[in-house]
Amino acid sequence: MNDSLHTFAQSIASVTDADALIEALQTERQTSVRINPKKLGKQYLPSVPWCTNGYYLEDRPLFTLDPLFHSGAYYVQEASSMFIEQVIAPLATKPLRVLDLCAAPGGKTTLALSLLPEGSLLVANEVIRSRAQILSENLIKWGNPDCIVTNNDPKDFDFLRGFFDIIIVDAPCSGEGMFRKDSNAIEEWSPENVDLCSKRQLRILYDIWPCLAPNGTLLYSTCTFNEKENEDVVARFISENDATSERVSLQKEWNITEREKDGAYSYRFFPHLTKGEGFSLSVIRKGEGSDYSFPKKTSQPKSFSILSNKNTSQFQPFITKEDVFFFEDKQNKVWALANNHQKILYEIATHCTLVHAGIPVAEVFGNKINPLPGLAFSSKYNTNAFPIVAIDLETAIHYFKKEPLIIENAPKGWIQLQYNNIPIGFVKNIGNRANNPYPSEWTIKMNVDYSRLPKIDWHNL
Ligand code: SAM
Repeated sequence: MNDSLHTFAQSIASVTDADALIEALQTERQTSVRINPKKLGKQYLPSVPWCTNGYYLEDRPLFTLDPLFHSGAYYVQEASSMFIEQVIAPLATKPLRVLDLCAAPGGKTTLALSLLPEGSLLVANEVIRSRAQILSENLIKWGNPDCIVTNNDPKDFDFLRGFFDIIIVDAPCSGEGMFRKDSNAIEEWSPENVDLCSKRQLRILYDIWPCLAPNGTLLYSTCTFNEKENEDVVARFISENDATSERVSLQKEWNITEREKDGAYSYRFFPHLTKGEGFSLSVIRKGEGSDYSFPKKTSQPKSFSILSNKNTSQFQPFITKEDVFFFEDKQNKVWALANNHQKILYEIATHCTLVHAGIPVAEVFGNKINPLPGLAFSSKYNTNAFPIVAIDLETAIHYFKKEPLIIENAPKGWIQLQYNNIPIGFVKNIGNRANNPYPSEWTIKMNVDYSRLPKIDWHNL
C-alpha cells in the first residue's frame, strides 16, 4: 500500500471497514445508465433499485459509437448518484424551481429534469466555463424545455434570495470515491486537501443558502468518504443556521449506510457494501424566512431581444409547445422558453452569464431560417416540421462526425434525420450531397473503422 493510501485508510477507519473498502476500490467499476423516458422505453436489464430509469450493464460498451448516446436517449451515470431521486420525487407533486449549483457535466441535472412536473424550472449552473459548455450540450441533448444554463460563481445568485424550492449542491470534493476510476486521484489525495475542500464546501453552502425558499430543501452531496467533507460540513452548517438535517427512507436490501453525527444525517454508498461508487448525500431543510418577490420593474437584458408576435409565426411550426416566447441572441440564434419563465429569464440574464435557455429553435441569416441542430433533441420538437429520412448506424456516425452525407431519394432542402425512430439532427440536401451543420464542438473525435461498427441493442425504441 502506498503512503497516500495508507494515510487515507487511517483517516477512514472511524467511518467504515477501511480494509474492505480499499479492497473494493481495487475491483472493476460497475457500469450503469439512466434512460431518458422521453426517448427510450423500459429496458430488460437489472434495475438500479433506488432509481426508476436506472440500469446496470454487464459490460461497458463503446458509448462513443452509439448514436443514441449522442442524442440524449440515455445518460451514463454511476448508480449511487441516482439516489437523489428518493429525495426529489416525493417533492415533485407540483411545479418546482430548482437550482443545480455545481451541475457539470449534468448527471444530476438530467435526472432532476426527468422527475420535475410541467411548469417547473431548473437552473443548471457551472462555474468553470469549458465545463458549462459541456453541461449545455448534455442538457440540450436531454431535451427538456424548462431549463436555463448559467456560468457563475455561487455568490452571484444573491439576487435570487428565497427563490428556489430545491437547491442541489453536488460539491467539488477530494474525490476519494474516484480512487477506483482514476489512479491519479490517489496520488493527488492529501489530508490538507481534505481540509481545503471542507472549507470550500462550507463557503459554497453559505453563499447559496439565501436563495433557498422558506421550508426549501437543499441536497448536499460529495463523492468522498471522509467525515470532514460530509457530516462535519452539514453539522456545522445546521448548527449555525435555521436548518435541520432530514432523514431519507431506505429499503434494507439497498445496503445504503445511514450515519448520524451531531444532528447531521448522511446516506453513504461504500463500494464494499452497496452496488455503486462512493457517494454521500445529506438533506438540509430550511426553516422560516422570506419568499422571493420579483422587482417591480424587470427590463429586457442586453444579451437578447424578444421577438414580437408577428415575427414568431415562422418559428412556431418547429415546436409543439405553444405557451412560449421566442428570443434571439447576439449570434442570431432563436430560442423558445415557456411564458411563465420570461420574468425570471430577464433577471437571470441581467445578473448572470447566460449559456442557454429553453428550446434551441433556429438560426437566422437574412431571410434564411436554418433549424438549429439542438432542436431535433427537444421533447417539444415538432417532427412534422421537416421531411423525415431514416438512417442507418453508419450514416448516423458520419453525421455525428460532421462529415458530408449522401442521402439518396430525399427531397432537396432541410431534412431531419432519424435513427431508430429518434430525431438526431438536420442536414441540408443539395442533391449530390447534404451539408452537415452539426456543431464542431459536439463531434465524435475518434477515428472510426466503419467496417467494424459495434451496435448496442436497446429495447423498446
Ligand atoms: N453534479 C455534477 C454531475 O452530477 O454530473 C458533478 C459535479 S462535480 C462533483 C462538482 C462541480 O463543481 C464541478 O463541475 C466543478 O467545476 C464545480 N466547482 C468547482 N469549484 C467550485 C466552486 N468554488 N463553486 C461551485 N462549483 C464549483
